[in-house]
Amino acid sequence: MPEIAFLGRSNVGKSSLINAIAGQKGLAFTSNTPGRTQSINFYRVDGRIYFVDLPGYGYARVPLASKDEWARLIEHYLQERKTLKLSFLILDARRGWMEKDLDLKNWLEANHHPYVVVASKMDKLNQAEQQRGLKAIRQHAEPLPFSALTGRGVREIWQAITKTHQL
Ligand code: GDP
Repeated sequence: MPEIAFLGRSNVGKSSLINAIAGQKGLAFTSNTPGRTQSINFYRVDGRIYFVDLPGYGYARVPLASKDEWARLIEHYLQERKTLKLSFLILDARRGWMEKDLDLKNWLEANHHPYVVVASKMDKLNQAEQQRGLKAIRQHAEPLPFSALTGRGVREIWQAITKTHQL
């Protein structure tokens, strides 16, 4: 089955986004990778597609060795997974691009992986802040505004998925 990957810093709202777009239809299971500190979660949606929840990055508390572990796990998944059709790179609309986000974006481009940037938690910003936040993110890529709270962007994310892969 085709797979759609979700990437982002810890606490960016990745789980909330996956739940919002999967609705009640998701059937989750966990793929525990032996010897790893992190795991990759697969959510089967409608029996026709997998949403792949990749471990969040960017916790300063995580020791360096674990960060390397993270990079190996993510890179291995992204590189080897033939069924991967599209990745969503999720940014916090209030924070915009952080160094690790840009690293990941550059990696996706260098490896010719299609991706869509999402600006999450839009409901936390007022109108002026929303414009400023989106403008800052546009310096590197056009973002899709999203809020798990209001449901803004759910339809657009599904459109991006169906455009990439005819379900
Ligand atoms: P993850 O670590 O990236 O999976 O992030 P979570 O989905 O667990 O969200 C982290 C925190 O941000 C939680 O307290 C969520 O309730 C909150 N959050 C996530 N998405 C939104 C959103 O769209 N709007 C608001 N207001 N809060 C959000």
